[in-house]
Amino acid sequence: MTDFAATRAHFAIPEGLIYLDGNSLGPLPVAAAARVGAVMRAEWGARLIGGWNEAGWMDLPARVGDRIGRLIGAPAGSVMTGDTLSIKVWQALAAALDLNPGRRVILSDSGNFPSDLYMAGGLARLLGEGFRLVTVAPEAVAGALSAETGVLLLTEVDYRTGRLHDMAALTAAAHEAGALTVWDLAHSAGALPVDVAGAGADFAVGCTYKYLNSGPGGPAFIYVARRWAEAVRPALAGWLGHEAPFAFEPDYRPGRGIERMRVGTPPILQLATLDAALDVWEIADIGDVRARSIELSQAFIAAVEARCPGLALASPRDPRARGSQVSFRHPEGYAIMQALIARGVIGDFRAPDILRFGFTPLFIGMAEVKGAAAALAEVMATGAWDRPEFRARSRVT
Ligand SMILES: *Cc1c(COP(=O)(O)O)cnc(C)c1O
Repeated sequence: MTDFAATRAHFAIPEGLIYLDGNSLGPLPVAAAARVGAVMRAEWGARLIGGWNEAGWMDLPARVGDRIGRLIGAPAGSVMTGDTLSIKVWQALAAALDLNPGRRVILSDSGNFPSDLYMAGGLARLLGEGFRLVTVAPEAVAGALSAETGVLLLTEVDYRTGRLHDMAALTAAAHEAGALTVWDLAHSAGALPVDVAGAGADFAVGCTYKYLNSGPGGPAFIYVARRWAEAVRPALAGWLGHEAPFAFEPDYRPGRGIERMRVGTPPILQLATLDAALDVWEIADIGDVRARSIELSQAFIAAVEARCPGLALASPRDPRARGSQVSFRHPEGYAIMQALIARGVIGDFRAPDILRFGFTPLFIGMAEVKGAAAALAEVMATGAWDRPEFRARSRVT
């Protein structure tokens, strides 16, 4: 059984703060600052360009990828880190469409994260010739698969409501229809057990600054199923994905397997942060994290519904049908969230009316759940949110 007091000690969270936004930006792992400092001084500072060979920088994206792989059911050598999630979505989609010639539809759901849809739309426009993005309601996805569908692009956990897609069932349905799948694990990796290989996913992508705590701008990751690894023809054909980058050949030859999903120079300092952040998984079991997250989120829903009649649950009530976040709707959701933040309870707001609370058992326990529900009840009962300063929108919500 995971010792959650021990995992909590891995993170530096300001005293008195109830941080329910680890689903958007994970907190600083205590070990990360020292690790990055060491990489800066002992590697970059002391070795300069020698760091690429002597400090293992060139292998770091794959080594860290393997550590993420263990959390998402991916075998060693099938996950690569780098770039940002938006880029990895585009890279996976381009590869999947190319592997499924003659099919020109990217199918997704209307609740998907805008960047995923923008990337799909942009790629389809670039390809022209009838390539297009089709979006349907989340519950209509399986029924919308057709002989035209080249790729099914889905985010497993909906960023607004937390609604959880059935990855194994939808992947099987997609394959039945002759389509490949690209799964976005932005709100899954580190939040709940994922089994990309067991589910038969073709590609999966995700970011690391949410539940994997790599810090703002931390690198993304991409998984490619073994059966496709040597068949992918990278559209983002960067020099570090080349079979022999330092041969400096004029023509591109893809690197071996997952190596070809590299693009350019990896962000070593952010990778070092991510590597340090992943250490907590040496003492945490993802099954335990999931069970605890359900316990915490159920308690939060019960407390909020008992004391805040004006808030409507926007997440599935059945915990098996949602990820690790709970959302409520209110037309004044933005101001309510600002009033809560002023009281030291950090969640976030997603337009048009969603108050979002992430439950991250690595550093959140029942005391924080009770404290957050009490603060929310107070804000609602007193109308404390109804002030001009809480309505003023910031650039990031
Ligand atoms: C957070 C998130 C992103 C963000 O993409 P970046 O390129 O890392 O900014 C994209 N897609 C989904 C589903 C997300 O949840």
